[in-house]
Amino acid sequence: MKAIGVIGAGQMGAGIAQVAAQSGYRVLLSDIGIAQAEKGKAGIAKRLARAAEKEQISTADAEAAAARIDPQANYDAFADAEIVIEAATEREQIKRAIFTEVGKVMRPDAVLASNTSSIPITRLAQAAPDPTRFMGVHFFNPVPVMKPIELIRGLATSEDTVSRVEAFANSLGKTVVHANDAPGFIVNRVLLPMLNEAIFALGEGVAGVRDIDAAVSLGLNHPMGPLTLADFIGLDTCLEIARVLYEGTGDPKFRPAPLLVKYVDAGWLGRKTGRGFYDYSGPEPVPTR
Ligand code: NAD
Repeated sequence: MKAIGVIGAGQMGAGIAQVAAQSGYRVLLSDIGIAQAEKGKAGIAKRLARAAEKEQISTADAEAAAARIDPQANYDAFADAEIVIEAATEREQIKRAIFTEVGKVMRPDAVLASNTSSIPITRLAQAAPDPTRFMGVHFFNPVPVMKPIELIRGLATSEDTVSRVEAFANSLGKTVVHANDAPGFIVNRVLLPMLNEAIFALGEGVAGVRDIDAAVSLGLNHPMGPLTLADFIGLDTCLEIARVLYEGTGDPKFRPAPLLVKYVDAGWLGRKTGRGFYDYSGPEPVPTR
């Protein structure tokens, strides 16, 4: 069984681990400690069991996929991985420290890929064991549902690395798009200004949460409103991406909305903390403004 490594067992890492396990890979899953990695696995097992209850997959497949996920307390076992995907918190220093550590054990032919939403791949590559075997692999949330993967090559990324990661992405049943290394790549370059503008509109009193979401989702035929989506992505992640776009381009059109900064300062990060633009403590999300 081919092994891959996934670093970070949060929303994205757990999703990546799940689809890889369902595609037959053994998945080494790590986080800041074994407890967080085990928690990530427990969440995946629960989602797989729910999919089996709904008869989307068989119980045997759900159990087999969960059994292929192997939580790790450290990177020792990552020496077995052909591809290591980093999906830890969107902070450059955290990612750089991870690359240094995992780079010590990775095979000389293994590929390291980052799921960063916004940090330049060419710059991150400087902390990788070999910049030619490093690239961006940008999955979308929720990973088991969303089809595309943006593959981002850094300046030094080799053709062999691109074709190996593309083959891996295809083996997960995903649709690959290629992007150059520019702030926000394709989707976030287009999406973040819309989410940010919805937060400006909320902060300036143009309308309340429910009206902004209803207007945009119905008026533009989007499956959900921008504030719901921002809560879903995580407001801290949204702010990090907005800052990278702003700083990376130097263009004031990308400046983060002050209300977004305030919510992150308050620890109101969206669904994952139970409160963002909606309160998620009850059976239905309730708008907070
Ligand atoms: P998250 O907060 O749900 O999970 C991040 C995980 O990383 C946490 O479990 C945290 O404990 C772990 N972590 C922190 N420091 C670590 C370390 N030193 N070693 C190992 N693990 C560590 O965040 P997320 O939404 O899963 O985002 C993860 C990455 O995916 C980010 O780079 C983000 O930009 C990117 N991303 C997010 C989305 C999205 O919609 N949320 C979409 C695409 C890409």
